[in-house]
Amino acid sequence: MNYYNHIVETIGNTPLVKLNKVSAGIKGTILVKVEYMNPGNSVKDRIALKMIEDAEKEGLLKPGGTIIEGTSGNTGMGLALVAIAKGYRCIFTMADKQSQEKIDILRAVGAEVVVCPTNVEPDDPRSYYSVAKKLNKEIPNSLYPNQYDNLSNYKAHYESTGPEIWKDTAGKITHYAAGVGTGGTISGTSKYLKEQKADIVTVGIDTYGSVFKKYKETGIFDPNEVYPYLTEGIGEDILPKNVDFSTIDHFVKVTDKDAAIMTRRLAREEGLFVGWSCGSAAYGALEYAKEHLKDGDVMVIILPDHGTRYLGKVYNDAWMRNHGFLEERTFATARDIIK
Ligand code: PMP
Repeated sequence: MNYYNHIVETIGNTPLVKLNKVSAGIKGTILVKVEYMNPGNSVKDRIALKMIEDAEKEGLLKPGGTIIEGTSGNTGMGLALVAIAKGYRCIFTMADKQSQEKIDILRAVGAEVVVCPTNVEPDDPRSYYSVAKKLNKEIPNSLYPNQYDNLSNYKAHYESTGPEIWKDTAGKITHYAAGVGTGGTISGTSKYLKEQKADIVTVGIDTYGSVFKKYKETGIFDPNEVYPYLTEGIGEDILPKNVDFSTIDHFVKVTDKDAAIMTRRLAREEGLFVGWSCGSAAYGALEYAKEHLKDGDVMVIILPDHGTRYLGKVYNDAWMRNHGFLEERTFATARDIIK
């Protein structure tokens, strides 16, 4: 018989898929790594497993313990699955800009979710970082994995995402692009890939309203770069320990609107029903590729999660129109014709 002992054993080994339409006219081969094929539907399953297994090895988490994390949803899903497999309780703190679907999904797999205000300073006692820390202090036998500063995050990608890409491209990869939130995905993967072939070019995708690009280019942490934005999962107002700027050659910033429109194009033109930051990653990477890729180059772009979590946002026409992200239709729909 061919079976797994638990669903968490299926984490990783996600497929590489070629882009066809949205990359038209760009030289080289553009491949995406489809992370929604993980059992929790996102790249974050990888770090959830690694952070918990490392904490167990170090004696930081004991049987019957509680896992507490500040998460935009995907890490929570991964942690919830690992917690079910291993018998832990989960409590997650989330910013209130996150989609309702993400909150509902976490509750569906048995986690407790505490919703916190988005637009407060990270060290404000109401922020989701501060609330997670307080719960960790007060609940005995609890672990706060802290994906931002826990280097097991970075290592998960160094040990799995990087080697998978190297193997699946038969070492032909020349460019690698990923969105940057905690920084674990881009930094861990890039470190592994650059150790195999030093001249692989890596591109971090940032949002407007985030500090990363300016920090990389000037060394200055500029609070004026920070303002509210809508894209979920990438961009930060802090410098997490998992961002290793030495592994990231360039940053490209992408607007909420360009990301949202590209997300819908990936679904409709490529059959890739992916999340909003996937649109950011693809848009930013393709902008870079237009300028820099040559025939024979191979670019791999990470697509972190699945579209179901964004049905009420980028996949909702009314929501898109309300945000000025969708131009009015110029064609008749089937509904217009039959009425
Ligand atoms: N996209 C989504 C949807 C995410 O949840 C995250 C994680 N915050 C990222 C991209 C960025 O990945 P990383 O944290 O590894 O930089």
